[in-house]
Amino acid sequence: MDFSWTEEELRLRQGAREFASARLAEGVPQRDRDSTFSRELWNACAEFGLQGLLTADASNGGGANLLSAVAILEGIGYGARDNGLVFSVVAHAASCVEPLATFGSEAQRREWLPRLADGTLIGATGITEPDSGSSALTLATTAVQDGAEWVLNGSKTFVTNAPVADLFVLYARSGQGFGGLSCFVVPRETAGLTIGPPVEKMGLRTSPMALIYLDDCRVPSSSLVGGIGWGAMIFSRTMEVERLLVMAPAIGVMERLLEGCVLHARQRTPGGTPIGKYQAIAHRIADMELQLEGARLLLYRAAWQRAHRGAATRESALAKLAVSEAYVELCRSAMQIYGGYGYTAEYEIERQLRDALAATLYVGTSEIQRNLVAGLRGLG
Ligand SMILES: Cc1cc2nc3c(=O)[nH]c(=O)nc-3n(C[C@H](O)[C@H](O)[C@H](O)COP(=O)(O)OP(=O)(O)OC[C@H]3O[C@@H](n4cnc5c(N)ncnc54)[C@H](O)[C@@H]3O)c2cc1C
Repeated sequence: MDFSWTEEELRLRQGAREFASARLAEGVPQRDRDSTFSRELWNACAEFGLQGLLTADASNGGGANLLSAVAILEGIGYGARDNGLVFSVVAHAASCVEPLATFGSEAQRREWLPRLADGTLIGATGITEPDSGSSALTLATTAVQDGAEWVLNGSKTFVTNAPVADLFVLYARSGQGFGGLSCFVVPRETAGLTIGPPVEKMGLRTSPMALIYLDDCRVPSSSLVGGIGWGAMIFSRTMEVERLLVMAPAIGVMERLLEGCVLHARQRTPGGTPIGKYQAIAHRIADMELQLEGARLLLYRAAWQRAHRGAATRESALAKLAVSEAYVELCRSAMQIYGGYGYTAEYEIERQLRDALAATLYVGTSEIQRNLVAGLRGLG
């Protein structure tokens, strides 16, 4: 067993930290207040190579293995204070670029991947619907074949990036049961595709979100990703990677918050005593360290498993569950340690907590991760 990163992975993580601290950490409170998605910072991330992180089709780098990608995103999370922007970039890379790179036809890869990977195009994915939610595979949007076209009808909710996206990876029902879902790639300008107004959110406010509506939306047969009925398989395979990529920045955020808490515990001296002298605070910090390191190990192990052994369903569900729950707990502890200051918008703790709360919901809630793990034991 070897727990060390390679020199190259450490270099990548450090480079990402420096890029994110220098480019993505300014002006976040204002953008958060205004719910502003910054195209300029999106472009900066693209120049750094984040949007095409995993795909060998990226002209500016790309083709990183999953462990390197985790190292890079951890560094990004540490340096960037803009969790919403990072979430948008990862959603694009993991749920739009990744399935097209893995399951797309030669023509689809040629047409879309270079521009998705270099950030020219923004991608989004829609599986969640108002009436299916956690039971994603029971979705009702229909895909009906009509000659050389598919006709899509239905709606998708909570679609990250929808207000600004150029391309949508959408899942629809083309038949009955598990094998009855298919996956399509649909450009924004397609007739019959409508984007709703931006949804206002509690956190991750710099990441735009909207509902989308499909009303006799006709796409050519060449829009089908993989084969007819591949939707559930593409979705499950994609989710395995997305769970890891989306949680990697949280490890970096947690590390930076923990360092801030240690400093604050030393420097804050109400009544003359540094609060870190109180066992209640010191133990809370030890517990934060425990939460972070436990979550970190599960995430690294799942990424290793997926990179070296292929499937990592159980490992990625455990990692998603552990990191997201640790993230929320750690932010709550940081709030307690900063006291009233943490509750003010002047410090970043209240924003971090608002952003963190989404992590136990997106890419499958904590309950759904538990269902997955228990299901593999034949339970539930
Ligand atoms: C910030 C953010 C970004 C998102 N981005 C996207 C996106 O880009 N594309 C997309 O398609 N979706 C996206 N989603 C949607 C997300 O995947 C769903 O919110 C999530 O799957 C839960 O569905 P729901 O909100 O309808 O909750 P529900 O399914 O209504 O669940 C409500 C509660 O019931 C629990 N529950 C439901 N079913 C079960 C069960 N079988 N066993 C135990 N408990 C259960 C849930 O865990 C939860 O606690 C995003 C969500 C958020 C918050």
